[in-house]
Amino acid sequence: MSRFANKVAVVTGGGRGIGQEIARSFAAEGAKVAIVSRSASSCEKAADEINANFPGSATAFAVDVADHDAVQELAKKIAEEMGSVNILVNNAGVTRDGLLMRMKEEDWDTVLDTNLKGAFNTVKAFMRVLMKAEDPRIINIASVIGLIGNAGQTNYSASKAGLIGFTKAVARELAGRRVTCNAIAPGFITTDMTDELPQTVKDSVIGKIPLGNFGHPQDIAAVVTFLASAEARYITGQVISVDGGMTM
Ligand code: NDP
Repeated sequence: MSRFANKVAVVTGGGRGIGQEIARSFAAEGAKVAIVSRSASSCEKAADEINANFPGSATAFAVDVADHDAVQELAKKIAEEMGSVNILVNNAGVTRDGLLMRMKEEDWDTVLDTNLKGAFNTVKAFMRVLMKAEDPRIINIASVIGLIGNAGQTNYSASKAGLIGFTKAVARELAGRRVTCNAIAPGFITTDMTDELPQTVKDSVIGKIPLGNFGHPQDIAAVVTFLASAEARYITGQVISVDGGMTM
């Protein structure tokens, strides 16, 4: 299958974890992928691996998605170097967990600036080019925590709930231009982000997942590529939970 030959996909947070797997899945089906992450080493390594192993190609861009002006520059650069952009995946995200009583303002701001304002910055920067592209898609990686909340994650819950509201409003604004915008709400997925959790927390979370295990980055990438495909053209403004049944 080669659903993305001649398509350009921008994947933020594509240097590691879920974003890296999303980038691989697009490249496996022929896409040209722009991998965006904070550190040059992370996105360059991910791009090298794709260029060595997949029929598509990847280019690395070290940009902080929370930096409005830097994202505007990024959009210009990608348009120049890669021609068009068909797919934008807002996957870059961070956690700074702690109970609200002790949460520092900086922890609130970092999470909101990356997870929510980051998506505002990229959608603003790429919307014009998307409107002109074939099968234009925006896919936002939210979280089940944005749907159900979690003690110790007020900042993260607010950022992901905000991202879900943003997704629906963007879907309505851009529907007339045939740009679809959907969100995926992953449950607990095995990446660096969840590796940090203490084993006791992991065991307690697994007890709440009907399918009985953490998901894999491929489980998210499979839904992203479906939403990005031509077959998903009539789906917009939706939130799809991929969580082993955790929030049914
Ligand atoms: P990781 O921590 O493994 O990777 C995060 C990626 O995002 C890295 O490539 C990182 O860059 C990049 N990134 C972080 N901040 C910025 C920024 N300001 N600008 C540009 N890039 C940035 O995370 P996951 O793969 O686990 O998570 C990916 C997304 O999925 C996140 O939005 C997360 O909230 C969401 N999610 C994850 C779940 C999970 O269980 N893992 C569950 C639900 C949602 P660098 O490599 O340079 O550090």
